[in-house]
Amino acid sequence: MRLAMLARNAGLYSHQRLVEAAEARGHTLDVINTLHVHMNITSNRPVLRYGGKSLPLYDAVIPRIGASITHYGLAVLRQFEMQGVFPLNESVAIGRARDKLRALQLLARAGIGLPVTAFAHGPRKAEDVIKEVGGTPVVIKLVEGTQGMGVILAETEASAKSIVEAFSAANINILVQEYIAEAEGRDVRALVVGGRVVAAMERVGKTGEFRSNLHRGGITAEANITEEEQSTAVHAASVLGLNVAGVDMLRSNRGPMVVEVNASPGLKGIERATNVDVAGEIIAFIEASAAHGATETKGQ
Ligand code: ADP
Ligand code: GLU
Repeated sequence: MRLAMLARNAGLYSHQRLVEAAEARGHTLDVINTLHVHMNITSNRPVLRYGGKSLPLYDAVIPRIGASITHYGLAVLRQFEMQGVFPLNESVAIGRARDKLRALQLLARAGIGLPVTAFAHGPRKAEDVIKEVGGTPVVIKLVEGTQGMGVILAETEASAKSIVEAFSAANINILVQEYIAEAEGRDVRALVVGGRVVAAMERVGKTGEFRSNLHRGGITAEANITEEEQSTAVHAASVLGLNVAGVDMLRSNRGPMVVEVNASPGLKGIERATNVDVAGEIIAFIEASAAHGATETKGQ
């Protein structure tokens, strides 16, 4: 097959591994810098231009669109979809996952376990929002945050109130969430590929840190995940319409609680922690699924 990957940095571990896995299975994978693609959206035949030439018609495209370029990146991905190229994850599904509020609403509607969460834009009374989730301690999150930046633990009523007020004054959308103390700074990341958990790891925040993100100094270990955690992760990915997802769950006294679903999960931490060839699993999924015109949304 002739595959394309939308990525800005071809040198990243995840991107190198996907190229290796594709080549090992006899495919070619062109890495295309998302921001260097331009599109003719008026022609009958959707065209993608890159480096002064039209891109060939690929069998499948792997979107690895960074959070900071989601808007333009999804437009490029839609153009591939309009050509009938199979996307590993569809533009619409990635859009759902990238909008934390939308993702949580969809997951809640499907009955998936979530921490009690309130959303507010410039609340007049910060104490009402804090009360809504059961009082302090609370976790306050920027709706647009990623990699653990913009996730704050407020232990006292006074600090929670002042943080909520500060974001309101700056016109920033936030989520206020009950703090799952029993997770003890750990979470489980399940890597879902094609409706199956192919690898799972536990991430442990560094000492004194409630956020377990690797970018925040967390460390990893292979996780033995329960059936309930597996089915929660598979369900969460399918509710958002993602073929590939990194589903982060907290182990709470009330069962697994999903905190985030990543549409472009990093492969380094999980492959190193588990020795699973996740990149190979992804390419195998594409082999089994990619047929010209197989995208359901056609980028609409
Ligand atoms: P990001 O998208 O920035 O990674 P997350 O919502 O995934 O933000 O939060 C980052 C980390 O903070 C999680 O992986 C988890 O370890 C911790 N965390 C997030 N929400 C809660 C919560 N409600 N209770 C306890 N810990 C939490
Ligand atoms: N690659 C990052 C991770 O797996 C974030 C990807 C995203 O924002 O979708 O944690």
